[in-house]
Order: sequence, then structure tokens, then C-alpha cells
Amino acid sequence: MNLSNGVEFNDVITGVIIDKLSEYDPSLRDRPKEDVGRKCSNGRILGAIADINSIPVFLKVKDFVERTLLEQFDPQVMTREMFVPLRLVDGQLFVAVANPWDAVPEDICYQKFPDCEVIRFVTPVAEISKVIESVSRTTAVSRSDLDAIEVDEMGEGVEDFNVTTSYDEPLTQFVAQMMSEAIKRRASDVHIKCEKERVHYSYRVDGDMGEKYDIPMKLRDRLDAFMLNLMGLAPEERTKRPGISGRFTVSYLRRAIDIRYERHRTYRGYHITMRILDKSHFEAKLGMGSLAFDESTLFELEKVMSIPAGIIVMSGPTGSGKSTTLNAILRELNRPEDNILTLENPVEDEIAGVIHCDLRDSSEFKPMITSFMRSDPDIILMGEVRDHDSAELAIEAAITGHKVLTTIHTPRASQIIERFEQIGIERWKIAQTLKAACAQRLVKLLCPYCKIKKSGIPEREVEKFNLDRVWTSTECYVKNNDGCPECQNRGYNGRAAILEIIPVTPQWSDALSKGTMSPYELEIEVRKQGKLPSLKESGLRLVSQGKTDFDALRKVIDMTYE
Ligand SMILES: [Zn+2]
Repeated sequence: MNLSNGVEFNDVITGVIIDKLSEYDPSLRDRPKEDVGRKCSNGRILGAIADINSIPVFLKVKDFVERTLLEQFDPQVMTREMFVPLRLVDGQLFVAVANPWDAVPEDICYQKFPDCEVIRFVTPVAEISKVIESVSRTTAVSRSDLDAIEVDEMGEGVEDFNVTTSYDEPLTQFVAQMMSEAIKRRASDVHIKCEKERVHYSYRVDGDMGEKYDIPMKLRDRLDAFMLNLMGLAPEERTKRPGISGRFTVSYLRRAIDIRYERHRTYRGYHITMRILDKSHFEAKLGMGSLAFDESTLFELEKVMSIPAGIIVMSGPTGSGKSTTLNAILRELNRPEDNILTLENPVEDEIAGVIHCDLRDSSEFKPMITSFMRSDPDIILMGEVRDHDSAELAIEAAITGHKVLTTIHTPRASQIIERFEQIGIERWKIAQTLKAACAQRLVKLLCPYCKIKKSGIPEREVEKFNLDRVWTSTECYVKNNDGCPECQNRGYNGRAAILEIIPVTPQWSDALSKGTMSPYELEIEVRKQGKLPSLKESGLRLVSQGKTDFDALRKVIDMTYE
């Protein structure tokens, strides 16, 4: 079973680990095994593994690696055995391993350095994988190899497509390289587009589309067929349907990564979008990683989550990470005694114990949710409220005692109520069922290795964005335009979510129903109380912490309002 972020332990070892964890939390003993993995953080599980083997835990090893030492080991072997050497000091070789019960990494190290003493640490697979990534090279396919491909010969389908190994067939190697490069760059999507005289691909990283790379025109159809083949679809399918959706899985340095595939027919051929669902940097845990909200926002979120029935709506533009946050909320709410159903298009993140349903098209929505309600759910996640039917059903579910999580497209949290009204829901209905209106944005984070210190923000900017005058002399950081190798020369690395919550308390719900208060006045009221930060305030907090810069902030938040 999979207890610790990627390592499969057999039943005996799993039992030993659970015994260890139960010393601190006896309730774990009676839980099903898969529950233990969910209940305990990776840190705790690693701690238990280390404890049993009497070796220390080392969570973040990346910055301690001696590169010249690392380069003496074969990336393929390190990937297979999941270990990395860190340092060689006074005859002691420090090694990070994912599975201390496995003796092979130690043997490999002794073969290489027979006179050394090997000292091991337990480290998460994702971290070891990141270190190996820094020295692994996928063989690039030359343009002449691509040009030399005979277009009429069809390659065999590839099962369990390993994108970090080498293939003799140039097209296979080309796709492997394109995909592994995308994962390495932390791209969210790969786009392949056909224009009149060129076919090209590009990556979207942290919300920005990057450089376009050309693919020989004659490979247009062959590449298309190859991608369809990965999903087990015959090439004929592409002429039958205007849009094709699917999924496949690739293996990247021993991590399985899901790829969501969308292809639609265009005038000049096709446009393929592949979304990379790499869960290892998808630290979708409330309060941690990219969802490290401030204390008061987290506290309010927990409060709202504990309300037994009602709707929690997350708003924001496309790509603002709404569903990531809802999935994180769902993880927190996930208890064996609750029946949780989701209705998504498509399913992005599978959670153990939750029944996920995917909508093929919008006509399925109504019959699906009707049959849904008969299967006795406690918590429902509805991908999106887009029309009257879906809004009505969300409200109906909330009135009949269910907890409903959903998303809607509005820029500001207070506009959620008006959006429901626009699609034909009476104000009182939404006012009485809505428990929290939330808005979210993803803000790009500065690369910590190359960011540049500034002594303040120019006066003009301070005025334009209604900022306090202290910002003219507040020390902050800006992006380095040249970047560095750590951020692939982008100056930014990763994104963090900022969240604004407007809780709808019984008192406010009443005022909204009666019409004595408008949704905007409610927003102002929440601001006046000063307990919950707005998007702007949370964004400025990230600037003052040196985590992001003004440019990144004003791309996602309207900074001109108070
Ligand atoms: Zn950098």
C-alpha cells in the first residue's frame, strides 16, 4: 500500500508503520489502512519510518546536494532505486533514501565508494525525484531526425508511456521529450497548434504562455495520430467528432502523472491542449504550500466548513485555482461516515473515499444530479454553477440539508449573489442558503534565488494603486528580468493562492433577503470589521514578505479599488 508519497510498502511493513503511528494515536489501529495514509501527514509517516529504522528524516535535501558527487551516479539507477547521494565528508557518504527497508541503494554506494561509511536519511519521493530531475537529461531529437521520419509508417502504441527514458523511434522520443520538458518546467499545459504554414507547440507556465517551438509540417497528422493512440483511440475518431477529450498517464522519474487531453478541430488542422495534473507540486492542503492562507482566513474557512448544510461558492476567473481549493476543502471534510459525491467536468483530482462523476456534456447534468440526490449524499461538489438548472439544484440540495461546494465565474466575492440572481434565482433563496462567498486568485511567486531587492515603490505607483505612503520606503523585492537556472530564466517560480471570504451569517442572510442590505454593502461591512483580509490586502502581505512583486499582483487583482 502507498503510505508515504509514492513508496509502495508491502503489508508487513505497512503493519509495522501503522503500529508505530498508533503509539501516538491509538485510534489509528482500528482504521482501514487506506484511511491511515489520509489521516496522517506525510511528515508524520516519514517520522515513523525513520524511527523504526533508527535513522533521521531529512525533508528538504535539494540545497544540500553536492553536484559533482551527484553527477557520478546514473539518473536511471537513482530513479529506479529512489535515492540520491548528498555529500561526502571525512569518509562518510550521506545518502537520502525513500525506502530504508530497501538495501540496494546502500549496496550501490558501497560499490562506488568501498571505503566510506554510508549514512542514510529518509526523504520523501517527490524531493528525491526533484534532485534527480536536476541532473537528468532527456535526449533532444534533432530537427533532421524529425524531418527524416517516414510519414506513412505508423508506430506501435506505447503502453505506460515513460517520458524519461530513451526511444529509438524519433517521433516517440520527440513526444517523450516534449512531455518531460513540460513537467520539468512545471507547466500547467502543453499546446499544439496548427496554423497555415506551421505547426508548433508551447508551454503554459504559471499562467503565462511561453515560446513557440516548430514541428515539421509533414508530421502534423502523424503526431495527432500518435497522441490519439496514447489514449487508445483510432485515428479515424478525429474525423468523426469536432472535439475529443481524454486522459492518459505518463511515467516521469517513477512518478505517474495524469494528462488530460483536449483536441478540437480547427480550420488548419487541430488544436491540442494537454493539461498536466502533476500532483506532486499540487500541494492541495489547506494552510500549506500554495494554499498557505493567513490565520484569520483559515479560521473563517474552517468555521464555514463546519456548518452542516448550505452552499460554499468559490469565484474567480478561469485558472485561478478554484477547484484546487475546493478539492482541498473536500479532503478536510472527507470522513468515512459521510457520503461524498462530486459532479465535475472533468474530474481533476481523485480523492480516496469520494465518488467522482464526470459529465460528458451539459445535457447530462440534470439527469445525473437527480439520480445523485437519490443516492443519499451528505456533501456534494458541483463543478460549476453555469445556468438556472444547476443553480436551482444547488439551492434545492442545500435547503434539503446538504453541504454543497461549487464555483461560479465572477470577479468579486460579493458579486456571487448577483450572479445567482442574473440566472434567475430569487435573492432570498440564495441569501438563505449561501454560507460563504469566496474569491480566489493565483499570484506568481518570485524566484527566491534571483529576486532583486528594492528600497520602495515609486510614488506614482503608490498613488495609482491607492497604497499607503509607507510603501514608498518599504523594502520589497522585484523580479529579475534575466532570471536564473532555478527558475528557467523566468524570474518567477510557482504560484500561491490568495483567498477572500465573505461569510454570510444568519444576521446578514436576513438583511440580504429583506433587501435592507446589498451584497456590496455586505462586502464593505466585512471590510469595516477588519478581521478578514481582502484579496488586495492578502496580495500586499505577499509583497511585504518578499514573496511576490507588484507587477505580478496587479495582473491578477484590480488594485485600483480601495
Ligand atoms: Zn531565478
